[in-house]
Amino acid sequence: MLSKQERTAFYKSKEWRHIREQVLKRDNFECQECKRQGKVSTDKRLDVDHILELEYYPELALDLDNLETLDFECHNRKHNRFVKKENKWKNDERW
Ligand SMILES: [Zn+2]
Repeated sequence: MLSKQERTAFYKSKEWRHIREQVLKRDNFECQECKRQGKVSTDKRLDVDHILELEYYPELALDLDNLETLDFECHNRKHNRFVKKENKWKNDERW
């Protein structure tokens, strides 16, 4: 398992910056989660996500098969950040 410090160092590495660019290009700069849902992402803030989380699968850190482009919104949803109580039911409906 990687510590927060190790992960921060990883995200600053040139290996990561390089592979991140490759993933964005491979995914045509499109959110893959929106694509799976048949939506077109309008969110232009793109992140490259580790499908199996970096924290627990450091050996897959630079594995192209473990990386995909997500927009800011889908990325946060995946990691359950900024989960607000008042949105709970709205989200349930959507699923
Ligand atoms: Zn999305």
